[in-house]
Amino acid sequence: MSTINVAKFGGTSVANFEAMNRCAAIVENNPHTKVVVISACSGVTNILVELANGVADQVQREQLLKQLVDIHFSIINQLKQPQTITNDINEILTKVSQCAEKATVEPSEQLTDQLVSCGELMSTHILCQIMCERGHATQRFDIRTVMKTTSVFGNAEPLLDEISIAAKTHLVPICKDSIVVTQGFIGSDLNNKTTTLGRGGSDYSAALIAEAISASGLEIWTDVPGIYTTDPRIAPKAHPIKEISFAEASEMANFGAKILHPSTLVPALRHKIPVFVGSSKEPQLGGTWVKQEVESAPLFRAVTLRGNQTLITLKSLNMFQASGFLAKVFTILAQHKVSVDLITTSEISVSLTLDRTNTQGGSPKLPPAAQKELEELCSVVVEHNLSLVALIGNEMGQAKGTAKQIFGTLEDYNLRMICYGASCHNLCFLLHESYARHAVQQLHRELFEHE
Ligand code: ADP
Ligand code: ASP
Ligand code: MG
Repeated sequence: MSTINVAKFGGTSVANFEAMNRCAAIVENNPHTKVVVISACSGVTNILVELANGVADQVQREQLLKQLVDIHFSIINQLKQPQTITNDINEILTKVSQCAEKATVEPSEQLTDQLVSCGELMSTHILCQIMCERGHATQRFDIRTVMKTTSVFGNAEPLLDEISIAAKTHLVPICKDSIVVTQGFIGSDLNNKTTTLGRGGSDYSAALIAEAISASGLEIWTDVPGIYTTDPRIAPKAHPIKEISFAEASEMANFGAKILHPSTLVPALRHKIPVFVGSSKEPQLGGTWVKQEVESAPLFRAVTLRGNQTLITLKSLNMFQASGFLAKVFTILAQHKVSVDLITTSEISVSLTLDRTNTQGGSPKLPPAAQKELEELCSVVVEHNLSLVALIGNEMGQAKGTAKQIFGTLEDYNLRMICYGASCHNLCFLLHESYARHAVQQLHRELFEHE
C-alpha cells in the first residue's frame, strides 16, 4: 500500500471559483493527497446530456452553449492568469458545439459520451490552474489513458487489469513530484473511444483509481457532511452516521443513496481502503468513515429511495411445461445483456426489476428484441412509475417484532412487491412513485427519530 490519498470532489464542490478554492484548501490540508479526482462543474453534465439528446432548435442550442461558456468563464475570469487555459477551454467548447449539432441529426450513445466527457475535461483545466496559482506543483492528467473500459457507451465497465497496469505506468510516477488533478466519470475503451461510467460515476472513478495505485485512503467530498440516515432532502431530521461498514454503505449506494455511485465501494472493499465522506463546504463538521470493522451494527441503519423503477412480470403460458421456465427467462435476459435487480417468484411467474439506468437517464428499458423473445415463452407485463424503498440494517431477520414495526408503519400504503431474505442487511419494497417519498419520511420518523 502506498501513502497516497485520493480526494474526489463532486459537481457542487467545484461549482464556482470560491468552491474550487475550498477544494484546493482541503487538498493542501493533507500532504498525502496526491490525486484529485473531480466532476464537471455543477449543472454542466445535465446541459451536455440535453445537447446530446439532440436540440434541433438552433437558438435553444446556442442558449445552452452560452450557459456553458458563462459557467466556465465566470471562474476563469477570476484566475490570475486566465490566458494559460483559455485556448484549451475554447477548443473543448468548439467540440461541444460541433457534437451538439451532429446530435440533432444522428444522436448516439457514443456521441453522448464524447459530449458529456467535455464537462470533466473543462473543470480539471480550471482546478489545476487554481492549484498552480496557489503555489503547488500540479499537473492535469487525462484519465482516459488509465481508465480503460468496455465499449458499453453510457454505462461502461472498468477493465481492472488494464487500469492497474496503466495507472502504475502513467499516473504513479507523476505523483512523486506533483499533485495530479484528473477527471472522474470518463474513460476510454480499447479503441481509445471515450466512454462514461454512468451518471454520478466520478465516485466510482476515484475508487477505481485508489485501488489501482493502492492508495491508503479515499476521500469523497460533497455537499453534505457524511452519509445520513436518509437523504436529508427527503427527511430534514436525518442525521449523519459517524461510522458505517462497507456492507451497509454498499447496500445504501446500491439502493439509491445518491451520495455514492452504486459501485463506489466495490474497489475500496477489495483493497480494504478506508473511505471518508465529508462536506467540502464545511470540512470542520467531519463526516462518515466507511470501514471494514465498525463498533456498532444497529438493527436499522438507514432508509433509501430509488425512483424510475421498471417492473416486469413474466407468467408461464402453460404451467405443465413450466420446468426450466426460470432458466429460459434468465438465458434470454442474459443474451440481451439485461441486468436484473430485484426478483420475486411464484410457481409459474416471476417479477423482476431492471438494474440502473445509463448516462442518458430515464427508467431502464427492456430491449424490444428481448421482449419479443420472452413473449414467445410467456406473457410479459411491464410497469413503470414505481419507486424502490430499502431499509438497511443488520440481522433484521433475527429480531422479533421487526416485520410488525416496519409494515405497521406502512399500513396506509399499497406495496407492489417486497424483497427480503437474500441479504441480512436489507428489506426492500416497490410502491407507486407518487407516495414513495412520504413512505420514506414515515419510516424515518418511526425508526430513526426517536432518540
Ligand atoms: P456530488 O455532486 O458531490 O457527487 P451528489 O449530488 O451526487 O453529490 O450526492 C450528494 C447528495 O446525495 C446530497 O446532497 C443528498 O441530497 C443526497 N443523498 C441521498 N441519500 C443520502 C444519504 N443517505 N446521506 C447523505 N446524502 C444523501
Ligand atoms: N458529472 C457526472 C454527472 O453529473 C459524474 C459525476 O458528477 O459523478 O453525473
Ligand atoms: Mg455524485
